[in-house]
This record gives sequence, C-alpha cells and structure tokens, in this order.
Amino acid sequence: MSEAAATVLSLPAPPWTQPQRTQLQAALAAGRLPHALLIHEVPGSGGEWLAFWAAQLVLCQNRAQAPCGVCSACRRVQAAQHPDLWCVRPEEEGRQIRIEQVRELASELALTSHGGGYAVAILSPADALNRFAANALLKTLEEPPRQRLLVLVATQPSRLPPTIRSRCQRLPVRAPTRAEALAWLTQARGAALPWGAALDELGEAPFLAVAADPQELATVGEEARRTLEALAGGNGDPVASAERWARAAVPLRLRCFENWLTERIRAQERQGTFMTEMRAGPYLSEPAPVLNIRELFGLLDEVRELRATLDVPLNRGVALEDLFRRLAP
Ligand SMILES: [Zn+2]
Repeated sequence: MSEAAATVLSLPAPPWTQPQRTQLQAALAAGRLPHALLIHEVPGSGGEWLAFWAAQLVLCQNRAQAPCGVCSACRRVQAAQHPDLWCVRPEEEGRQIRIEQVRELASELALTSHGGGYAVAILSPADALNRFAANALLKTLEEPPRQRLLVLVATQPSRLPPTIRSRCQRLPVRAPTRAEALAWLTQARGAALPWGAALDELGEAPFLAVAADPQELATVGEEARRTLEALAGGNGDPVASAERWARAAVPLRLRCFENWLTERIRAQERQGTFMTEMRAGPYLSEPAPVLNIRELFGLLDEVRELRATLDVPLNRGVALEDLFRRLAP
C-alpha cells in the first residue's frame, strides 16, 4: 500500500464532510450500511479522506465510538497497514487501474477477513478503472461476500459504466467554501503560508493544495494563467506552450486550466444576465466573447478527460496543443 494513504487520514477532519460521516454512522448502527459506496468528490475536496474514514468506521474495535481513532485498528488504517484494508490505485499517476489489480482484489475479498469482521477495499481514483477492470469489479459488486465494504472515489463517475454506478450508493462531497478551505489548510499546515494565492489558482481544492508547496503552487498557477490569457488573446504560441506544459507539473497545470475555464464560464453567465437586461436599448452592439459558453464547457470536459487519462508524454503535448489552439480567437 502506498505511503500517501498513510498521510491522508492524518490530516484534520474536513468539516464539510460531517453530513456524510453522520449518514454512514447511522447506516452502520442500523445495520443498513451498503456494501459499495461511490464517493463523488469535487476535485481536492477530500473524497479519499472520507474513504479511509469509512474504513476506520467499520474496522474500529470500539464499536460504540467508531471510529475512535485511537484503537489499534484505527491506527493501522491511518498508517495504511491494516490486514483487512486494501487500497487499489493506478500503478503510476495518471494511468489506469488494470484488470489484474481488480482480480487480485476480488480473490482477497473472497477470503475470510483476518479479524473475522469487515474487510474494506478503496479504489481511488475509481474513474481510472479501465473498461476491463470495471467489468471484473462488477462481479464482486453483484455478489459481494458478507461484511465487505467497497469504496470507490471518483471525480468523474460518469466515466464509470452505469452497471457499476447503479450498484453503489452515491455519496457526494461538495467543495468547501473559501473560508472553510482556508481554515482547514491553516489547521493542517499553519497560517504562515500563502494559501489564499494557492486557492486562487486551484479553486477550492484544499486537499490538492495541502499536498503541494503553496509557494510553488502560486508560481505555477500564475504562469499557467498568463499562458492561458495570452493564448485566449491571440498572443500565445500553442506549440511552445504545450511543450512547456507537457514537461512538468502536468496534473497541477491542468487543474489550473480547469479553474481558469470555470472562472470564465461564471463570468460569462454573469455577463449573459447583464447583457439580456442591457439589450433593451437598440443601439448597443453585443460584444462577441472570444469563446461562447458551450465551447468553454466543451473545453472543460476535455481538460478533465485529459487529466484523468494522462498518457505518454508525446500524447500530452499533442492533446494540450489541440486545446490551446481552440482557445485562440
Ligand atoms: Zn478505533
């Protein structure tokens, strides 16, 4: 199991996931906990944290106060060393979860758990399951052994086959407000860091911000913004920019791209309302926005798609260049 898993639960509890935690505790107490959860998170909002918390909930030895956070089971989950917890991730960032990984998981889950109770599997990000892996998972979802909890964490559940989605209970995790994100980051890493600037570039994605150097984040984000503004203004070089972006910090830059597009969509929505009111005057000419809202949404989908399927470096460059060309007026 990866080291990253050990750290996510050691971060402070994100207060905006409290309703989901209350819901899961109530379901467990009532014996109605589903065997599969699909945590649909806004990127960076803590979906994986909630997945590990759910693992603690069912594996905790203090039934009355689960998850207590202090029993040996809870501590093992936090350290990602619990014998009845499996975490399945792509073997490399941006790659897919392969069928062999799912088959191995299925055979582990078919065995009796070490502790005689629950066994938990976390698949994160579940939207990285390729089609074959998703099919293999379906068998386990259809006939789950008793006391098994599968937790899928996804930012784009629409990438999963409907057959998978329909067999999981959906648990949405919203983005925190800016104030919630800042308070949480300060609690996690201290106040003396430029969190505001980092969130300006990333959007309200504190779990992405907390893992990065906020100074570097602000620098990369500012550079990403300058590049995008130049391209959208017709002053950029799509080829050179794509080459530069493809070399380093690709997921971070794509996240900045998403945030930049989202800001433009919001701005156009506001402007659209304004223009409708103003158009009553017959002599006002309508300024032509460089990209209409449909094109912005189209680009946003493709940037998310690219982030989810980061492949060989050559393809990244080509895909980025294509997106950059479409920004130009
Ligand atoms: Zn415990």
